[in-house]
Amino acid sequence: MSKKEPMPYKALVNVYEALAATTKRLEKTRILADFFSEIDAELLPIVTILSLGKVYPVWSRQEMGVGSQLLMKAVAQAVGVTPLEVEDQIREQGDIGSAAETLFQKKSQITFFKKKLTIEMVYNNLRKLATVSGNKSQSRKINIILELLSSASPQEAKYITGTVLEELRVGVGEGIIRDSISEAFGVDKNFLDRAYMLTNDLGLVAKVAQSEGDEGLSSLTLKPGKPVKPMLAKLADSIKETVSDLGFLYCETKYDGIRVQVHRQNSEIKIFTRRLENISNAVPDVVEYINQALPQDDFIVEGELIVTKEGKPISFQYILQRVRRKYDIDKLIKEVPLSLYLFDILYFQKPLIDDPLEHRRKILENIINPVKGYVELSQQVKVTMDNVEEAEYLFEESVKLGHEGIMLKDPQAPYIPGIRGKKMLKYKSEPETLDLVVVGGTYGRGKRAHLIGSYLLALKDENGNLKTIAHVATGLDDETLIELSKRMEDLVIERKGRQIKVEAKIILEIAYSEIVKSPEYESGYSLRFPVVKRIRDDLTLEDIDTLPRVDSMFKNN
Ligand code: AMP
Repeated sequence: MSKKEPMPYKALVNVYEALAATTKRLEKTRILADFFSEIDAELLPIVTILSLGKVYPVWSRQEMGVGSQLLMKAVAQAVGVTPLEVEDQIREQGDIGSAAETLFQKKSQITFFKKKLTIEMVYNNLRKLATVSGNKSQSRKINIILELLSSASPQEAKYITGTVLEELRVGVGEGIIRDSISEAFGVDKNFLDRAYMLTNDLGLVAKVAQSEGDEGLSSLTLKPGKPVKPMLAKLADSIKETVSDLGFLYCETKYDGIRVQVHRQNSEIKIFTRRLENISNAVPDVVEYINQALPQDDFIVEGELIVTKEGKPISFQYILQRVRRKYDIDKLIKEVPLSLYLFDILYFQKPLIDDPLEHRRKILENIINPVKGYVELSQQVKVTMDNVEEAEYLFEESVKLGHEGIMLKDPQAPYIPGIRGKKMLKYKSEPETLDLVVVGGTYGRGKRAHLIGSYLLALKDENGNLKTIAHVATGLDDETLIELSKRMEDLVIERKGRQIKVEAKIILEIAYSEIVKSPEYESGYSLRFPVVKRIRDDLTLEDIDTLPRVDSMFKNN
């Protein structure tokens, strides 16, 4: 059999255009399902991930690392205009993809394209971006993008630039991709969802659905080395009510740090954050303590990593310093010591997520050899209505020690990845905060003219669209303000006087005194006295707060 012609990128671009032309979910699903069913096994994982506007799975630490400023330069070079002209075009068109398309249309009247882009070429070049670092990395990245753009048609340029910024704007999320895979290969949606939940790899799931059907999907399971989306907690109204609802529960200290999933696969230990980023290199001390505390078998355990000084938790902000650090790690280990409190186990020699928490916790207790102050079990009491005061006591003690509150867990519950349900609840000492994404900002005046002093924040509506809700200008120390201002510079999409619009990348946790109705913001709400509590680099856009949640918080007040 002769080797098949490589598939042109144009074929995928046609699909993007068809997807963007409809808002109907069923239609989008059909368009993608028809496309997937024509793709051969080798290309299918690539096409699946590109349909989502990405080139790396969520759990990969790889990033293309190209901000809008750099991309504007690349587009400017490709069409022979200045970056300012690209910026003007973005202002007119609303996004860089459409701006690139228009600029390429003007240019295409005078040039001919050299070679035809294939899906693999685009995918491979975009992946190459993540491998570029160090000397002259910016210009090398521009060259990689230019290699594609120099052969791109206006429409192709639109989607290449959109993919680089991970802003494809075709209205397709993981849910639609999963439905499309199920439709394309006639596999059971339940098997497919479960396989995805356990592997976090849409490309793999698509490939197995195509080649092995339901049977293959149901044999996919979680594996040490590949992170799983964590099970999430809902807010409890009161301790007593929760105990009375559940009858019997585990009550644990709620530590205030970052959630980590620790995997051992053969001799290698990997530590992932809640965004499924691998931070093992930044925390070799924790890796060493885990080696002492847990056996050499394969496992996946979960816990909260916190910063302590003389055994007491200290400010959350330090932990981000630790896990983001790439140099001088040894020095920082001494200055910012970490403690890990383990509270769950998902795999030990075999998957355990379908076992009740009661059983999982017993296994964890049996295998751990705690290293005091470094790797320990979360503090826990078992509570019924007869001893509910023990839960209240643990809450008070935990808060006194500087922790956030307590967790209330159903001992009969399996581990359900990625779901915020009623099997695990949180009860905190401080009022609820909101996790919001920065979409704009305003520069200060006078001496502070180079710093962004006020940040425009947004949440997500039910369709995933960002809607503004407040400006925040207080709560950041000078050092953080400088750092945030610097990070924002590379995310600028538009400037108007002192105001800027930025790509939605930075997430802030915001405390406030009240949610009020307001026509001033797109969400219809505003926050009174908002204060930044912390930068939440451990969260992604997927995790930010939603309009339905704010609706319900407003109504319940
Ligand atoms: P929140 O981030 O406010 O939704 O609260 C849930 C988070 O609390 C989890 O994602 C963990 O990071 C954290 N946490 C702290 N201590 C515990 C514990 N003992 N059990 C479960 N989660 C905990």
